[in-house]
Amino acid sequence: MIKKYIIPALILCITIASCKKDGSVGPQSAHDDAAFTLYKNNFLEGLWKLEPDEATLEGFHKFDSLLTIPNDKNREKLLYFAKLQIDSLSNYQASSLTPVNKMDYQVIENQMEYVEWQLQELRAFEWDPTSYNLLGSFARILNEPYAPLVKRLHNFYDRMGFLPEYYKEAEKSIHNPVKELTALAIDQMQNGLNIFGKEFADSLKKSGITASEQKQMLDRAAASAETIKAFTSWLQNLKNDHPRSFRLGKELYDAKFKYEIQSDMTPQQLYDAAVERKKHLHAEMDALSKQLWPKYFGNSPMPGDTLGLIARVIDTISAAHVKQSDFQKTVEGTISKLTAFVKSKNLMAFNPSSPLIVRREPGYMEGIAAASFSPPGPYDKNGNCYFNVANIGGWPADKAKSFLREYNNYTLQILCMHEAVPGHYLQYSYAAQSPDPLKSVFASAATVEGWAVYGEQLMIDSGYEKNTPEMKLMWYKWHLRSVCNTILDFGVHEQNMSRQDAMKLLTREAFQQTAEAEDKWKRVTETSVQLDSYFAGYKEIMNLRDAYKKQAGDKYSLKDFNEKFLSYGSVPVRYIRDVMMAQPKKPAGGDTVH
Ligand code: ZN
Repeated sequence: MIKKYIIPALILCITIASCKKDGSVGPQSAHDDAAFTLYKNNFLEGLWKLEPDEATLEGFHKFDSLLTIPNDKNREKLLYFAKLQIDSLSNYQASSLTPVNKMDYQVIENQMEYVEWQLQELRAFEWDPTSYNLLGSFARILNEPYAPLVKRLHNFYDRMGFLPEYYKEAEKSIHNPVKELTALAIDQMQNGLNIFGKEFADSLKKSGITASEQKQMLDRAAASAETIKAFTSWLQNLKNDHPRSFRLGKELYDAKFKYEIQSDMTPQQLYDAAVERKKHLHAEMDALSKQLWPKYFGNSPMPGDTLGLIARVIDTISAAHVKQSDFQKTVEGTISKLTAFVKSKNLMAFNPSSPLIVRREPGYMEGIAAASFSPPGPYDKNGNCYFNVANIGGWPADKAKSFLREYNNYTLQILCMHEAVPGHYLQYSYAAQSPDPLKSVFASAATVEGWAVYGEQLMIDSGYEKNTPEMKLMWYKWHLRSVCNTILDFGVHEQNMSRQDAMKLLTREAFQQTAEAEDKWKRVTETSVQLDSYFAGYKEIMNLRDAYKKQAGDKYSLKDFNEKFLSYGSVPVRYIRDVMMAQPKKPAGGDTVH
């Protein structure tokens, strides 16, 4: 749900930069933590120099005036950079580093192996036209006040200068693209062109730049819009008789899962666990629905089939929702209520560095989610945390009604648990205590999403809303979403699951509305592995908690587990597990673990 946590799909580069001034590939002492710290601090800047577009998106603005041309030569340079880093890492012994550095070592190693694999095996630059959509980073330069406006406008102008060559090379790189991704790229790029039109012109007017220079800049912006339009028509008219399938296939899927989810489980094992979990949830939901039936339906006969029964009860309970005009106010109240509950149950210390600002969603987020959490970027530790709430005030009544049934009195609270407390916001506020941007840039989606799913269950299991059967039933419905995300993703990309079977899974077995299920189908044709992160992270955190509890015996405390887990930030659960399950001993370096 949070774009920034998605690991960049493809990394393109411009020039190779050596991380070390003397040209050597690593420190001489294998036990030298200080040397590793220096190495890792230089590493990110070296990477950003190679991919300035990604750097902008992460909030690193030193290379905003540059852009990498996507050609073989530059891809070779990035590949060389990745190999060089893997080689550099081999000069250190991960086991002799402090826990923090060891995790960073593992994170860098995984990322560089991932880059190698992306360039050599996945080769999405050939078949995914969305990897050439630069509008997001241009928007960041224009809208994010990281530097004075004039400076940002000049960066914007300089970067635009690369566009003609960029798209010429993009066209040469693309072969037999995936149809769904081609359509998505055309859509995204055509809809975002305003950044070179009115948005750029309006910013220029406020800048104080001379009229003649403004004219020159506007001319280049107009030409840039034309360049991108020409690229989208090239895509539209491309003869593509043998498009690649959107289904990744077993071999690529397994490898991508390894780099992105970084789990001890294989995709097949995760899938099997999800199928088991679905069965368990259906049984629990059946029992709750039977318990609730007389309250809502009196003596009327119950539907004979389990799924039909659950669907009827869910449908009836969903009628309890707030008024359209009260949506935002209710969300604000819910955050306070959740915060008070976390404190009263002593689930974890609540000491966020930046407060959560609840706001009406900005225009560019409209239509994406009912609510979402936006943390500051990795380089902006003092920035604000926002909780964006959908602006449904002006919606037509029937659209609002269907939305409010989906986010009814029960699920609206679960949504706030997931996005804010104790989900993404609390997780972020612990992770932000580490000043190092590396963990944030390469945040594990499974840890971040897994924690949010775990957080929902934490509240329900702790007796939130007195554990009413309604609340529990609706949480199970919500939780089924994460579980079925995994079943769907693996099913579609590894097992050739049809659209019809996918719709059946989502609407009948996960009780989703048709519109929601259709959106999910679209998402699974445009992404892969990302949908696994929710259940994979959740499952791993639950497994870790069980093991930790067993090991701690009488000394186990839930608060202690939660705080300890969060203190390591957004690194993959398996690395956190290594440290949390290690027999206690003082780290030699005295490095503080965050
Ligand atoms: Zn989430």
